[in-house]
Amino acid sequence: MRVTSAFCRLLRLDGTRVREVSFEEAKVMVKVALKRKKLVCPECGFETPSRYDTRPVLSHWRHLDLGAWELEVVAELRRLACPAHGVVTEGVPFARRRARFTRDFEDLVGFLATTMDKTTICRLVRADWDSVGRIITRVMGDHLDPGRLDGLFEIGVDEVSWRRHHKYLTLVSSHRTNKVVWGSEGRGAASLDGFFEDLGEERAGGVTAVSMDMSAGYAKSVRQEGHAPKAVICIDPFHVVQLATKALDTVRRGVWQDMRKLDEAAAKRFRGARWALLKNPTDLNDEQAATLRKLRRKGGELWRAYTLKEALRAVFVGDLGEAEVRELLDRFCSRASRSGLKPFVTLAKTVRKHREGILAAVRLGVNNARHEALNRRVRMIVNRAYGFHSAKAALALVMVTLGPVTHVLPHERLDVPGG
Ligand SMILES: [Zn+2]
Repeated sequence: MRVTSAFCRLLRLDGTRVREVSFEEAKVMVKVALKRKKLVCPECGFETPSRYDTRPVLSHWRHLDLGAWELEVVAELRRLACPAHGVVTEGVPFARRRARFTRDFEDLVGFLATTMDKTTICRLVRADWDSVGRIITRVMGDHLDPGRLDGLFEIGVDEVSWRRHHKYLTLVSSHRTNKVVWGSEGRGAASLDGFFEDLGEERAGGVTAVSMDMSAGYAKSVRQEGHAPKAVICIDPFHVVQLATKALDTVRRGVWQDMRKLDEAAAKRFRGARWALLKNPTDLNDEQAATLRKLRRKGGELWRAYTLKEALRAVFVGDLGEAEVRELLDRFCSRASRSGLKPFVTLAKTVRKHREGILAAVRLGVNNARHEALNRRVRMIVNRAYGFHSAKAALALVMVTLGPVTHVLPHERLDVPGG
């Protein structure tokens, strides 16, 4: 078999013939030619038999490695005049538009990105993190389920910070499928408005409940005419508990700062108390449990704050009915507002204001452990996205990992022998 024929079978680049194979330093160069006579616009698929000019455009793409060798595909492309896009270089069947990698290479990277951290993936595929970001953005565009916004009933909306300096993503998930179905840059009402625009009035009419945290922005967008004004707004209990944990941490910091003024050594020892206080009591290790017992004996403000946080958490731990939750919630609010602890007085006010929304979540059961787990996974993925320079890439990482995306690896494609 000739070398060119062998490479043709090895690489399986759609619609090409291998013309020449050469070895360079740590790289195999494979020159290919397109089989098709017609020129195709890479933006819209417009076809024409005529070239715009005779000047060839030399293009190259990274393909899957060949053993330890990097493999580069090279082709001389032609230019065409598209009525919609002007003079463009023709598209190729084996790579996505504007990509410097083949589809096979990108599909592999998209799959790896769902489980691998930045350092590992960059080392393995020999690409920088921003290139990985652009690759997964294209993979997402190709493999995202087009029906993801059909048949939504109960949805959750949430904001996550994907980078320092208040850079946020707004994400919408389906409670039924437990997948992230939509996302956009930014947060607040304006971002969620974009979701309802994509959803359209008819599909929005099917939305019965929307769960969220206590920031008012999203509720405003849901209430708007043409969006989902009849949907029940639910406040996720785990967001309520998160606020209590924050209030406790504020009290703890205050106590620690007072302590530092009096006794530096004691303050240093006290620093270890943080996790003993903030973690769930069942998750503590022996040392942390001992610290917690010490804090209980000491009593005072900090212990009062701790028992308040735990009281609020306990409201949502069991599978209590709406009436019981209402009673416990009210009891918590009156205790918190009389506690003399400023962060808890504020918290009581917030909980009272959103009482109906919290109870609706309990009543409809839209807030379950699965949803909280998805929320936690979103945060984990978004942490991995740190280091991306664009919100688009961060969002793509969330979608290829937690969205309705079917990953197809090069050997799983239908046209692969044995695949
Ligand atoms: Zn075009």
